[in-house]
Amino acid sequence: MKELILCKYGEIALKGLNKSSFESVLQKNVKRRLQDLGKFSVTRAQSTVYVEPLEDGIDMDEAVERLRKVFGIAKLTRALEVEKSMDAILNDTMDYLALAFDGKRTFKVNAKRADKKFPVKSPEICSELGHKILERFPDMKVDVHEPDVTVTVEIREKHAFINALRLDGAGGIPVGTGGRGLLLLSGGIDSPVAGYMLAKRGVVVQAIHFEAPPYTSERARLKVEKLAAKISEYCGDINFHCVPFTEIQEAIRDNCPEELFTIIMRRLMMEIAQRIAAKEDCSCLITGESLGQVASQTMYAMVCTDAACRIPVFRPCIGLDKSEIVEISRKIDTFETSILPYEDCCTVFTPKHPKTRPTLDDVEKAQKLFDFEPLLQKAVDTATVKLIKKFV
Ligand code: ATP
Ligand code: MG
Repeated sequence: MKELILCKYGEIALKGLNKSSFESVLQKNVKRRLQDLGKFSVTRAQSTVYVEPLEDGIDMDEAVERLRKVFGIAKLTRALEVEKSMDAILNDTMDYLALAFDGKRTFKVNAKRADKKFPVKSPEICSELGHKILERFPDMKVDVHEPDVTVTVEIREKHAFINALRLDGAGGIPVGTGGRGLLLLSGGIDSPVAGYMLAKRGVVVQAIHFEAPPYTSERARLKVEKLAAKISEYCGDINFHCVPFTEIQEAIRDNCPEELFTIIMRRLMMEIAQRIAAKEDCSCLITGESLGQVASQTMYAMVCTDAACRIPVFRPCIGLDKSEIVEISRKIDTFETSILPYEDCCTVFTPKHPKTRPTLDDVEKAQKLFDFEPLLQKAVDTATVKLIKKFV
């Protein structure tokens, strides 16, 4: 008795001539994600990736959990392979069906006989298994029109297959089909969500974090590393760049008008991020900004920030309300980590009255009051990088 996982594509199925290149990236991502769980065969046919364990004792629950976070898969089905006999179909499938029926009320049974020589005909298979289910799960009822669970029995050449357990996948398109982006990752709620959203559209996400010791602590950085590890379950391995930002922030504090601190700080972050992006071969920056959320995220502030950028800045949370961002962060399990109350460098020297309508002219003039270039280059040169790997 063995379990298989069938992964159905979502959007990839709609791709035209490029379809097979998307498929092969997906196949590679699936293999990589399962690598340390044991030996699997990962093959594809008819818009489905078939994942079959090749040894005993593999943790299939864990395999399914991991595959539910692989972008490009819309639905997963856990299928059970049993001996080709009515005895096995009626008796060896009950534990599996108990999982599929959990929280469900109605079912129907379907049977397909690829092997026409199998002595029991499809309607009889359905009726016998249906009776067995009613006997074993007295709370379940038959509904042939809109069942909660459809139990499908397939009689194939060597084995019989039962599938009933269908789960939603992560959707999106495979990571690695959409270019590379550098995520500005803070310890907040929004930026991990932004990274997840771009990875969902196929982007390989790397991360950069600014820290300001001793104003920010070691545990604040560890928290951000933890967030990176959490999203790497979806994004894959992440190069995590940590940039010392204290001297730059002190220089801003000592030389620039207070009401423009934040906006200048953000422009300098973007400048450093672009230099790291070039090293990482990333062609865009990604932030967790949402329009109007705080003073530095008004349209005027973003115009000033973008004027410091030579590559596109993607802000996937731009039109989301905080509550919508929180909902996603709960779904991807970053929320509880994000709300841990550690310092962020952004809040170290927050002005009392930040300008919500800065003009680019004012900001550029203020930024010229000090020559930041040597500090910027020093920050890039002394940044550390660490590979964040969730699996293997
Ligand atoms: P978040 O919840 O993502 O921290 P926020 O609502 O706290 O966002 P800001 O602190 O203004 O908003 O930051 C806006 C964006 O700037 C963040 O989403 C993130 O992309 C980037 N950012 C802010 N602080 C840092 C930091 N210390 N290191 C890296 N990126 C940062
Ligand atoms: Mg923040």
